[in-house]
Amino acid sequence: MSEGPEVKIVADKISSSMLGKKIEDIIFKNLNIDIKNKIIGSTLKEIKTFGKNIVIKFSSGIYLRNHMMMWGKWRLYDRHKYDKGLAIPPNRAKWKRNPLLLKNVKDVREDSRVRLTIITKETVLIEFNGPILQFSIDNPLEKEPIKSLGPDCLSEIFNIDEAKMRLHTKQQLLISEALLDQKIISGIGNKYKSEILFICKISPFKQISQLEPTEENILLEGIPKLLRYGYKNSGRTRHLLENEKSSWNTRHWVFRRTGKECWICKSVIKSEKTLTNRATFWCPNCQQ
Ligand SMILES: [Zn+2]
Repeated sequence: MSEGPEVKIVADKISSSMLGKKIEDIIFKNLNIDIKNKIIGSTLKEIKTFGKNIVIKFSSGIYLRNHMMMWGKWRLYDRHKYDKGLAIPPNRAKWKRNPLLLKNVKDVREDSRVRLTIITKETVLIEFNGPILQFSIDNPLEKEPIKSLGPDCLSEIFNIDEAKMRLHTKQQLLISEALLDQKIISGIGNKYKSEILFICKISPFKQISQLEPTEENILLEGIPKLLRYGYKNSGRTRHLLENEKSSWNTRHWVFRRTGKECWICKSVIKSEKTLTNRATFWCPNCQQ
């Protein structure tokens, strides 16, 4: 699950381990030889996020844009362990394991999910599953899809007026759909969509045209606050109460809590995925 805050957390980790490090080798299928030659010997100069995209800039002027979608993962390994075959890849999700074809391997170098490997003297950075890894000489910020992204929930200043204007161009859209449209607001995924609508007490099935102006303002002011909270709290969206223990069940208001009691009104949390395309979680009592 790669939504804006989670993507930014990953970018921070890469940044703290790789920034300024000289690249000794890069392994990527079908990498243009000119680009490869320009990357080797250069350093990682800058790592930034735009919505759910990560953009890495190398000191030689080459860019890499990554979008993890639902499956991508980045991991950092100690070079010494990597060379000795002791760098262990992340486990495959249980439901995806096929005992014959997709068993877990213990040496990351043998893992078929590896798409990109960047090797420095001390650290090895690996991306699994892609799915989008684009190297370019041109700045990806000036190209699609980044060029058309709506205001970024995690940028220093979230432009509410711009977000509102973009929202108003899609009057017929359900709000739960509109929040996932990266050209309206960038960085929100399925989890933050359900959570923000719960916090703002807005039904996910309202069309944009049905939102009261006050609801719209509460929503647009709440979005950057919630995403920043998630960013600072490892993806958590709900505050822990005093004496409450941190667990998967206490992390969120409604997300993946189908059938459980609403934290506020004790009604049963519902979910559905036909009207809204992607799974939506909500409290039918709090959100009307
Ligand atoms: Zn409720």
